Amino acid sequence: MVNVFVPDTLADALRIRGQHDTLVINGGTDVMVKYRRWNGMPPDFPLDVLHIGNLAELKRIEIAKDKIMIGATVTLSELMEHPFVPDYINLPIREMASPAIRNMGTLAGNLCNASSSGDSLPMLYALDAEVTLASVHGTRKLPIRQFITFAKQTLLQPDELVTEIMIPIADYTVAYYRKIGGRKVNAISKASFYAVAIKKDGVVEDVRIAFGSVAPTAVRDRVCEEILIGTAETELDAKIETLRTRYVELLSPLDDTRSTADYRRHVSLQLLEDFIGKGLAK
Ligand SMILES: Cc1cc2nc3c(=O)[nH]c(=O)nc-3n(C[C@H](O)[C@H](O)[C@H](O)COP(=O)(O)OP(=O)(O)OC[C@H]3O[C@@H](n4cnc5c(N)ncnc54)[C@H](O)[C@@H]3O)c2cc1C
Repeated sequence: MVNVFVPDTLADALRIRGQHDTLVINGGTDVMVKYRRWNGMPPDFPLDVLHIGNLAELKRIEIAKDKIMIGATVTLSELMEHPFVPDYINLPIREMASPAIRNMGTLAGNLCNASSSGDSLPMLYALDAEVTLASVHGTRKLPIRQFITFAKQTLLQPDELVTEIMIPIADYTVAYYRKIGGRKVNAISKASFYAVAIKKDGVVEDVRIAFGSVAPTAVRDRVCEEILIGTAETELDAKIETLRTRYVELLSPLDDTRSTADYRRHVSLQLLEDFIGKGLAK
């Protein structure tokens, strides 16, 4: 038998987190599946449960001139429906799961789950998102690339909660996202590709590219991006071979029940080409 804590305030949640060994449940869409029992019995939680999903303090989206702050209990649907959240942030969110799951699931949950196929992760990597972690001892902020250390592994400590995700915003003129799954909804990605760019007078001023499901964490490489920066749209095709060669070295896809490593590699590089040829050059 486990205890279930449902605090009303963040202060209480952090106090409980500091005093007990707890499993955090936010929307529960990953946790409930992970610990389900097929015989109709309640889930088999290994620890006391701390349910934070209805913490009102963390259910807010704030937008400043150059960044957006997304509270940890904001659901994926709330993010999609917010009038001022840029479309390039919501591109991958719209492709996640199904409406019912998006009504419960959160960006923070997708981040903390840290699955290599988590659909928000390429976007968060490409946009240099930052995670705020809180405990009774204070708060700290980590870039997403530090926070996630490997597939399913993060620097979250047992007494901490993720309270907020900060995403820098900019005037991207190009946004591109493709997810390859076995079906249209409720599909875990076999491969995914996210990119944004700023183009001015036909020249690439900035570009950010991240691949999902082809390595333990999302793959992003500034060296490749710099190969494209400063390039006129008429010259982009000439860069594709160099980029393919470098990205092949960086992708380390696995064979698993959903797909093969060869397919994942092949389709990821096709998506790169499609982005450069159709997304960036148009
Ligand atoms: C049918 C179905 C379809 C799905 N489809 C997709 C899909 O297409 N793409 C995709 O990426 N995912 C998919 N998922 C997975 C899941 O819905 C997402 O990962 C979702 O974003 C998880 O959010 P949550 O709030 O429900 O997380 P939870 O299940 O509540 O938590 C997930 C993990 O994060 C931890 N956690 C959550 N919030 C915090 C916090 N604030 N502080 C510290 N730890 C925290 C929990 O302890 C747990 O380890 C699917 C799931 C289901 C059941």
